[in-house]
Amino acid sequence: MKNQNKTTENGGENDREQDGASLKKKYYNVSFYLDWCKACGICIAFCPKQIIKVRKSGKPYIEEPDLCIGCRFCEIHCPDFAVNVKDRFPKRRKTDV
Ligand code: SF4
Ligand code: SF4
Repeated sequence: MKNQNKTTENGGENDREQDGASLKKKYYNVSFYLDWCKACGICIAFCPKQIIKVRKSGKPYIEEPDLCIGCRFCEIHCPDFAVNVKDRFPKRRKTDV
């Protein structure tokens, strides 16, 4: 009985992979316009993955960019519009040449 359930779950995943549905991890680029940043620390304090670290100047940098989940909390809450989050590898549409 236990094996039957396992087989069903795995079968579902394989189907989704074959259908081309994305099960792959997405990656993001997070950049800071440091001239605009006033080092308030909001992005550093509230990043859910805690990957935004602080420089000696008090301004942020990303320590492990591959761990970013693209939630855009940092971008949305920055009071100085100093953060930009982008898909690292934007998908191309099938109709793109
Ligand atoms: S997008 Fe989210 S996870 Fe990525 S650096 Fe900003 S707050 Fe952190
Ligand atoms: S939230 Fe904006 S202004 Fe505040 S530290 Fe982060 S980038 Fe700088």
